[in-house]
Amino acid sequence: MWWGRGQGNSASYYQPAMELPDLKAACPEYGEVHSQVLQDVLRRVDKTYQAFFRRIANGETPGYPRFQGANRYHSVTYPQYGNGAVLDGSVLSLSRIGRIPIRLHRSLHGTPKTVTISREADGWYASCSCADVPTESLPSTKRETGIDVGLKVFLITADGKIIENPRHYRTAEKQLAKAQRRIARRKKGSERRKKAGALLKRKHQKVQRQRRDFHHKMALALLHTYDTIYLEDLQVRNMVRNRHLAKSISDASWGQFRTILAFKAACAGKRVFAIPPAFTSQDCSGCGERVPKSLSVRTHVCPNCGLVIDRDENAALNILRAGPRLVFFGFMPTSQTRSIEQPAVHKMRCGLSGDG
Ligand SMILES: [Zn+2]
Repeated sequence: MWWGRGQGNSASYYQPAMELPDLKAACPEYGEVHSQVLQDVLRRVDKTYQAFFRRIANGETPGYPRFQGANRYHSVTYPQYGNGAVLDGSVLSLSRIGRIPIRLHRSLHGTPKTVTISREADGWYASCSCADVPTESLPSTKRETGIDVGLKVFLITADGKIIENPRHYRTAEKQLAKAQRRIARRKKGSERRKKAGALLKRKHQKVQRQRRDFHHKMALALLHTYDTIYLEDLQVRNMVRNRHLAKSISDASWGQFRTILAFKAACAGKRVFAIPPAFTSQDCSGCGERVPKSLSVRTHVCPNCGLVIDRDENAALNILRAGPRLVFFGFMPTSQTRSIEQPAVHKMRCGLSGDG
């Protein structure tokens, strides 16, 4: 009713925000939620609609935003630290909820801005996003490289260094499949099926955590070695549609790695450039000759100059060659354009029990 079709995107946040008092009168249970938290829900809806209309304007065909029921809604945000949510030692005070003990592993740095409470597979977490976090720069090495995402390996640098995919990926995949089959065996709506579902969620969470941990470590290792890193600006969303399964998985993971690398680079005073992909795997890094090859051809063999080199290493060399040229023409590093305004998020475990 508030956000009917074809209503445009202008009034979607502010108008309902003004109607909130009426809504609270109609639904007394909303009075039990902090007002800023309710306003944040409207902000989220607004964001969804903005994105929806933006994508329509771009000629895409997005799905119309759908109502999300309670079991699809996993977090609430206190948009102003100090107003409804405040951290007092190892206790988080939340207005209308109470004082909650927190497992705080590191102290907060910078100025806390927002607090988001979220439910994950293994319990509740509070994420505090902070602004003005002091950066710690890494020593300069005066080295630069190009990196390419591999199919069999995680990535390869222009100087031929290979980072393998961690072995635990395979183990985790098997465990996920097993947990998935367990759900399928159990009767719909049964308690046992619910339990199996919770187990699958925890397995997924574990895989995500292992992957993120790996990405953080590899990003840091690269930034210790190089001052400037060029990589290919793959359109992750398009690539995931690729029917080649292994490739689509590695590309999805690549997207996260790129974000982490750019963010860490910004903090470390280093630079990461995502350059538009243009024939990086097809062209010869030795002489520039275009050598067309399908995805299954893993070695680049140049009929022109006789260069024989691994396909991905050839691509990494092309990326390293194209990068500085684009930078010369004013191309901006992703480590500046995207990440710096992103606040640092500090996540802590809440001492709530159960998953209610
Ligand atoms: Zn060649």
